[in-house]
Amino acid sequence: MISAHCPLCLRKGSYEDLLIHLSQHGYDSVQASVLLSYNKTYKGLIDNIKLAIPEIDHLDERYILYRRYLEEVYRFLKPLISEYEKLNVNKNIIALIGIYRDIIGCKIYALRTRLESSRHVTEIDKYEMVVLHEIYGELLNYQRELAEEDEDSVLYPPAIKKGTNYYISWDHVDFQEGKVAVTIHELQRKYIFSIPSSQPLLNHIKDEYFKVQFEGQQFVVSFTNNRKEDFARSSVLDIEGLLKANSRSIEDMFKKVELSSNIKALRSSPTIIERSKDKTEFVRDKHEYIKLAVQYCGELDKVYSIRENYNGRNEGAVIIKYQRFNHVYLLVENENLNRSAHLYAFERDSTDDVEKIYGFYLSDRENKRGLIKGRKIDFKKELNTAFNVKTLYHSDFKRYRDHLLEYLYKIG
Ligand SMILES: [Zn+2]
Repeated sequence: MISAHCPLCLRKGSYEDLLIHLSQHGYDSVQASVLLSYNKTYKGLIDNIKLAIPEIDHLDERYILYRRYLEEVYRFLKPLISEYEKLNVNKNIIALIGIYRDIIGCKIYALRTRLESSRHVTEIDKYEMVVLHEIYGELLNYQRELAEEDEDSVLYPPAIKKGTNYYISWDHVDFQEGKVAVTIHELQRKYIFSIPSSQPLLNHIKDEYFKVQFEGQQFVVSFTNNRKEDFARSSVLDIEGLLKANSRSIEDMFKKVELSSNIKALRSSPTIIERSKDKTEFVRDKHEYIKLAVQYCGELDKVYSIRENYNGRNEGAVIIKYQRFNHVYLLVENENLNRSAHLYAFERDSTDDVEKIYGFYLSDRENKRGLIKGRKIDFKKELNTAFNVKTLYHSDFKRYRDHLLEYLYKIG
């Protein structure tokens, strides 16, 4: 059956019209014909049946050839971010992969129906079933990987719904620009409002802490001849440093008045806080990906324990520095398994790499993984890395290992 809709925007038309229409979305004619082979009657059924995968000879040359052909035809269903960005589909990539998955799922269901009812089953039908089923599984994984990067779903727990009320906790609350933000991820909503004390909170710190501890402190605000601020000669920006340096004491003060959960972010210290001598001891309570990465450390390699500023939350992370023949690699792993890892490569004689990378993770920049994934930061240019940063996901242990092996031992 041939679809009379564009599967992406549901526009109706004849097959020929839709082929042209899909080229406007950015697909070539082969891809368009795959997308238009969508038979919606079977939508969603694939997830509710147990598939009997046909037995085939995986070494049969016909299978190998046909498989190669199918992989070529369907490769576009798993686009790289850069390929996705070239499309003109007005859908986020997770939703797009969802549509692709529906299309493949329907094809598989249709094939299964045919295989079960027909006596004239060819080897080709079986091959197609096997390969499509694999592709379907890959799309599912890819969707999960991408969703893993959807930081909000990890950051905010579900709210408790009772009747028309949603009960939220401190975990749903952030302070942003002097206002209070409440995120209910499952509703895809963020409510931002001011409460009378949200901005005065910092003023409270000023009055109750700084004016007491640093009584008489003076700052310089300098101006150029044409009355512009001259921050290079001012000391007023030191306030931030003071705030950070005193975060622990301020926190203690707040603990006394039970406001401690508001200022977790201030706990970060600007330097690397610990370098582990005994790596085995250090990784004992860490997840398996960190354990593996530390296993690949040689004599000269180092493990640093750091704090990551994750959208204002302070999380435990590590930087592992691998000294290899051609490059210095830095792997940044968060202790939270839900966060993907990043691998940076520098030329072997580069300096201060750890400090530079640490600075980025400690910084207030929000949605760091999104910035990296969307290539919003060019690390090659900004930090002079040898390659662009590589994201390693925690969804497939073997794949993670293969990536590490390739860089650390093959490229070196
Ligand atoms: Zn369309």
